[in-house]
Amino acid sequence: MATLTMTKVHNFSAGPGILPAEVLQQASEACVNFDNLNLSLLEISHRSKNFEKVMDESRALVKELFEVGDEYEVLYLGAGASMQFAMVPYNLLKTNGTAAYVNTGVWASKAIKEAKMIGNTKVIASSEDKKYNYIPKGYEIPSDADYLHLTSNNTIYGTQIKNFPKTSVPLVCDMSSDIFSRKVNAKDFALIYAGAQKNMGAAGSTMVMIRKDILGKTERKMLSMLDYQVHIKGGSMYNTPPVFPIYVTMLTLKWLKKNGGISWIEKVNQQKADLLYNEIDRNPLFFGTTAKEDRSFMNVCFLLHKAELEPEFDKLWKEANISGIRGHRDVGGYRASLYNALPLESVQVLVDRMKEFEKKMG
Ligand SMILES: *Cc1c(COP(=O)(O)O)cnc(C)c1O
Repeated sequence: MATLTMTKVHNFSAGPGILPAEVLQQASEACVNFDNLNLSLLEISHRSKNFEKVMDESRALVKELFEVGDEYEVLYLGAGASMQFAMVPYNLLKTNGTAAYVNTGVWASKAIKEAKMIGNTKVIASSEDKKYNYIPKGYEIPSDADYLHLTSNNTIYGTQIKNFPKTSVPLVCDMSSDIFSRKVNAKDFALIYAGAQKNMGAAGSTMVMIRKDILGKTERKMLSMLDYQVHIKGGSMYNTPPVFPIYVTMLTLKWLKKNGGISWIEKVNQQKADLLYNEIDRNPLFFGTTAKEDRSFMNVCFLLHKAELEPEFDKLWKEANISGIRGHRDVGGYRASLYNALPLESVQVLVDRMKEFEKKMG
């Protein structure tokens, strides 16, 4: 069995993102011999006791980490977080109702695009005017909206909602890039979804947690595969679920729980973000791209004042086995993603290189 003894790479990839080494090890072993069955996880029935245990545990862990009860159901669905852009309005937006959206970036605007295809959709706040470099605040939420859709963390522009609005309107949140990275009051949300590949597992499954009382109100004739109630009834196995990504999610959430859960990781993530933002603010060669109070602790976007120095800096971080910090094509410069599995040590290596670069530039 191959073990993970390769040269240490400091993996700042925005997604699919870094996973704990022990999770990769366990997942690779399960591909060959799962549960001592002498069979691969990939070649047994999803209805077998062995896999049902995986499904049950990965659903239960989400409720445990979010500290919610049986009024919520957890699903693992295919087709990415992008599929939820359509499934949310399809299941929640009444034929004569209104959906409210806050547009904080590329992902939010894709969600808005889908909702508009399904029904009356209002964008009640947007930060598009400033290239999404801040989080709109103090907007009014129409009290008769079927739901309000938010994106907790903007993976591409590096902003993050720090305080969620208080409202009686059901809150729906795309938490793809900061799920389980910090304490949130999950009971304030009617629906939370997250593609697994950023902070909770492998690409191919999307976690959807739904408070059941919001379902069944649209009077829409529903296609089975797009109907949350069908998936709930099927125990998230109406069709063959993405077994491997679900297994990886289970391992990742167990890793999180074993190490101290959300309160532990929140502290680590705060340390990582502080370390890097402090250097960005201190180092005269760099600057951050977003409003300070809205800075994401997961995706840190920064630029060089002199973009022409990029090749010099690139040489330095590449020598240190740093990977994945090239900025998104819409922002340029650099984006360091500090997902849960990234150790503080990796951030220190990056910060050291930034200091070294400053010295070198004299
Ligand atoms: C990556 C991302 C998505 C898209 O996820 P897919 O699984 O590729 O569909 C949606 N929302 C946010 C916030 C993301 O970061």
